[in-house]
Amino acid sequence: MSEKMEFKAEVNKMLDIVINSLYSEKQIFLRELISNASDACDKIKYMALINPDLAKDAADLKIKIVPDAENKTLKIIDNGIGMNKDDLINHLGTIAKSGTADFVNNAKDNGSSVDLIGQFGVGFYSAFMVADKVEILTRKAGEEQAWFWVSDGIGGFEISEAKKTESGTEIKLFLKEAEKDFTDTVYLRQIIRLYSDHISYPIILDLGKAGEETVNTGSALWTRNKAEITKEQYNEFYHHVSKNFDEPWMTLHFKAEGNLEYTGLLFVPSTQPYDLFQPDRKNGLKLYVNKVFISDKVEELLPNYLRFVKGIVDSSDLPLNISREMLQQNLMVAKIRNGIVNRLLKELKKRSADYDDYLKFWTAFGTAFKEGIYEDFANREEIASLSRFYSTDNLEKLTSLDDYISRMKPEQKAIYYITGDDVKVLANNPQLEAFKAKGIEVLLLIDPIDEFWTQVLFKYKDKDIKHISQAADDLKVERKETKAKEEDLNKLIAFMAKELEGEVAKVISTEKLTTSPVSLSVLDGQMSIHLERLMRNHQQQTAFASQKVLELNPYHPLIIKLAEAASDPTKESTLKDMTMVLYDQALIAEGEAIKNPSGYAEKVSAYMLNCI
Ligand code: ADP
Ligand code: MG
Repeated sequence: MSEKMEFKAEVNKMLDIVINSLYSEKQIFLRELISNASDACDKIKYMALINPDLAKDAADLKIKIVPDAENKTLKIIDNGIGMNKDDLINHLGTIAKSGTADFVNNAKDNGSSVDLIGQFGVGFYSAFMVADKVEILTRKAGEEQAWFWVSDGIGGFEISEAKKTESGTEIKLFLKEAEKDFTDTVYLRQIIRLYSDHISYPIILDLGKAGEETVNTGSALWTRNKAEITKEQYNEFYHHVSKNFDEPWMTLHFKAEGNLEYTGLLFVPSTQPYDLFQPDRKNGLKLYVNKVFISDKVEELLPNYLRFVKGIVDSSDLPLNISREMLQQNLMVAKIRNGIVNRLLKELKKRSADYDDYLKFWTAFGTAFKEGIYEDFANREEIASLSRFYSTDNLEKLTSLDDYISRMKPEQKAIYYITGDDVKVLANNPQLEAFKAKGIEVLLLIDPIDEFWTQVLFKYKDKDIKHISQAADDLKVERKETKAKEEDLNKLIAFMAKELEGEVAKVISTEKLTTSPVSLSVLDGQMSIHLERLMRNHQQQTAFASQKVLELNPYHPLIIKLAEAASDPTKESTLKDMTMVLYDQALIAEGEAIKNPSGYAEKVSAYMLNCI
């Protein structure tokens, strides 16, 4: 006796959407059916805990995949909880989740509805993407009667009584002509490994005459107790998820509990990947929902500055068929990401206490990590505190901002920095002379990203962060050396300004220099010479070159002499030459190219000749 029934209206509509447009990759039907089989095993496992009579049914739980190429069928068999007649009608004939009917009945077949529909758990129906008929033979654990269910996914379904010795469910797919590849064992093995490797029950592939093969590696590592996992097992898993062959520098395994539950197993590699700074590289974590693989490289789970982190996140609170588009908007995903960032930063904080150990991390990923100061507003200060920089205190060692602060002079008002390409060149920049004279430490920033974060982080722990050009207050010194006469100096400044018209915006006298006669800076608020050079190297914005300022050291004997010469008309041509040589020197000290190198060399050689 078989009973014919109609699908509920919303199921018909849902089937239509699922079959025609929900999933872009048909092979995921297998993931869905294996996931259901695994759920059924989970359920019997749980039931057996409550009802010891069921214990014999909960032993030796497994999932079998039986392809039949000749008849173009594929069976997914489990010995889990099984279904009775009511279950079949309620679970496979309606969509139980509240609000589904309303939603589906109002749904237009447009893109956004299709995305949303995934939230309602329609996994079973994905079988109809590849099959034009589905049969189910099932018996519920603890009940005698078995049931047979059959449907073509269009005209409703039929249910009849059946016989089955073991509890559990057999789902038989009659594959569409175009989908007969799903009987190919090589292909099946590959799909199962890709999507269901970490299902905690054995997934056994029937190879016909060749016997049987357990395809998955077994239980999901991240679900196990931390104390029982060896370092080697973690490393194996790291190799598997990251496709790297180094040892992870950091392994972080945690479980977040509360409103939103998820487990993370994250790794920081010990070596920098070759493409860390390539814009088209794919980053992100693997996402599992309830041990079922959902998606690779989920960028939404990691901010860009932590793009070197590898690993997985598993949350049972996300819908299984969450799509890429949904990931972008999902609030839970955003919360998980925040949680991950906090944990990573906390762990980095701990590891940062050991200088040599942390240096390994910093050398590999520091440049990318610093982008966070610019990118991650909420964690800006924390990221800055975890960042390391060169400074004039010790050119061989990196310092933290906190250590810098601990060395600050009592009267020092701010944390000072200078930017450039090379630590040693920067350390000799004439602009640092007064800082050296006063014993004020200056950070030597040599990464392009430093030009950017310094534009957004103005304070760290109540201390201003300032470019050395803004240090006026800190640099006031009583200077006792002889100084060029004011009147002479003004004449020299006027002369040089005229000579360098078009090259520099201003010539000024400065208190900042001690040993160099001249130095170059930019007008207030304009991009630094280093940033301008970076932009130029990237062929951007040459039109927006900063306006330069040539600064003269009025205490330098050469400037004093030149100032005296400025009133002597017979010295005019020498003064012209020397102005150009000094300007070139200032450019060189900044790491800039000079316009006429051979002219410069010629003049310098001539002066040298005079000295011998
Ligand atoms: P979900 O898995 O999100 O609940 P599905 O459409 O995948 O949605 O499955 C619907 C329901 O059908 C399941 O919740 C379960 O009650 C039942 N079901 C499906 N497959 C099986 C199975 N192999 N064994 C027992 N019950 C199953
Ligand atoms: Mg399911």
